[in-house]
Amino acid sequence: MHKILLCEDEENIVSFLRAELEHDGFRVDTAPDGGEAMRLFTENEYDLILLDIMLPVKNGLECLREMRKTSRVPVIILTARKEVYDKVAFLNAGADDYVTKPFDTLELIARIKRNITRRGVAPSQGLHIYKDGYRAVVAGSELKLTKTEFEILLFLYENADRVKTREEIIRAVLGDFYGESNVVDANIKNIRAKIAALTEVEIIQTVRGKGYAVRL
Ligand code: CA
Repeated sequence: MHKILLCEDEENIVSFLRAELEHDGFRVDTAPDGGEAMRLFTENEYDLILLDIMLPVKNGLECLREMRKTSRVPVIILTARKEVYDKVAFLNAGADDYVTKPFDTLELIARIKRNITRRGVAPSQGLHIYKDGYRAVVAGSELKLTKTEFEILLFLYENADRVKTREEIIRAVLGDFYGESNVVDANIKNIRAKIAALTEVEIIQTVRGKGYAVRL
C-alpha cells in the first residue's frame, strides 16, 4: 500500500483529500505546517509528498529543498491560482509535478499514481505471497527460498508497513527457540540477495535500531 504525506494547512482540503485518497487505497499522514511536515518526513518512509506552498513555520520551498538533501521521493506541489510564485524555483529545487487549487481530484490521483510509477515502484514489481502454495513472487518471478526465509518473509508481509524487531521475528518464525538475533539478519541478507536478482525495488527496509519492515 502506498503511503502519502499531505502537507497542507487548509483543514477543509486536508479532510476532503484524505478521505478521497484513503478511498483510493492510499495511506495518508497529514502535516498542518512545514515543521510537522519535516518531522514526519524524517521519521517515516513515503511514496509521495503532496506539498502546499504557503505553509506556516516553514514554507513549501524550504521543505522541498530540505527533503531533496536526503531523498528523491516524488513531490507534487499544490498551488493556489491566486498565489504568485516562481515555478522555476520549485522545479530547480526538485519538484516533480504541480497542481493548481481548486483541483480535480481524479486528475490529482492520476498524477499521484503516475509519479509513483515513474519512480519504479509499479505494483507489478512488488511482492506477492501465496501462502497456501508456499510461493513468494517478486516482479512476476518466483523466489527460491528456504523454509525459514519463506516464513520470515511471510511474517513481514502479513505485517506490511509495520516495523518488526528481530525478537518478534524469531518468536513468530522459530517459536520457542530464542536463538541469536543475527539468525534473522543472516536470513534477511539472503532473502534480499534473492529479491535483488529480480528487482531494484527495496522491498525489505531496515529501520535502524528497531528492526525490519516489508513495504508493499
Ligand atoms: Ca496554504
